[in-house]
Amino acid sequence: MRYNVNVPFAVIGGSQAYTLLQKGYIQGKRIGEIQTPFGDSQPIYHISNPQYEMLFLSRHGEKGYSLTAPFINYRANIYALKELGVKHIVSWSGPGAINKAYKIGEFVIIDDVVDETHSREFTFYKNRGIGFTRQFPVFCPILRKCIVESLNILHINFSGRGTYVCTQGPRLETPAEIRKYKSFGCDLVGMTLVPEVFLAKELELCYASICYVTNYAEGVVDKPFKAGELFEGLSDDADRKAVEDAVTQFPSIIINIAKYLKRQRIICQCQSSMERYKKRGDIEDDWHDWIKNT
Ligand SMILES: [Zn+2]
Repeated sequence: MRYNVNVPFAVIGGSQAYTLLQKGYIQGKRIGEIQTPFGDSQPIYHISNPQYEMLFLSRHGEKGYSLTAPFINYRANIYALKELGVKHIVSWSGPGAINKAYKIGEFVIIDDVVDETHSREFTFYKNRGIGFTRQFPVFCPILRKCIVESLNILHINFSGRGTYVCTQGPRLETPAEIRKYKSFGCDLVGMTLVPEVFLAKELELCYASICYVTNYAEGVVDKPFKAGELFEGLSDDADRKAVEDAVTQFPSIIINIAKYLKRQRIICQCQSSMERYKKRGDIEDDWHDWIKNT
């Protein structure tokens, strides 16, 4: 099915995006789930006014944390956004910190990724002989600048770099795993950005991510086990307050980014990720044909 929507900017909301939807901080027309060759996407909202326009998709569902990271249909979500005319995606996630220098609730505009996931559908190009996409830079450099500018306008402090390791989940990591990731140079640990960032590149979409630190990873600080608490005590009341403050800033952050993108046209290398396959005649101009027979 083809949809009569053409919006160049989309936000993929991560942890707690659904609370912003429920409380009405993010409002828009509900387009709903989009049918794709990989199944239905998560429901998509169209937010539009004279100053900005965007699509919004909540990764973990609309009503609660109903869909955990390993079970998200990343291919359907990215395909659906491409189908609706999206060219630029800003995502947000709430990872844990391996690097103690970060404060809880701090925003981090990450610039690199380590993939420790397994058993996920990680490519659109199964058995196609294409898709050897270069991963430098991993995230769209122009979109990262746009996020930085938006945070500066809002006088929000942030860290401009960080390496994110994506684990499989849904279980949390062991202390030894966290020590291993630290030795790899990882600063943050989460479960959602892979394969999302790589799938976006396969469809020549710009993608960048804003993270906010939700807790310290296992073994980074001493936190006793507390039955019935969030992450069994890995996150305490003070942490939750800092996280809540960060989450409530998201609507204004994404609106600022949307306004910026309405003023500025982004031209960057993400939009040429598949160029050599086009040149070689492996694929045509219509991206729908790139993923046929898979
Ligand atoms: Zn780009």
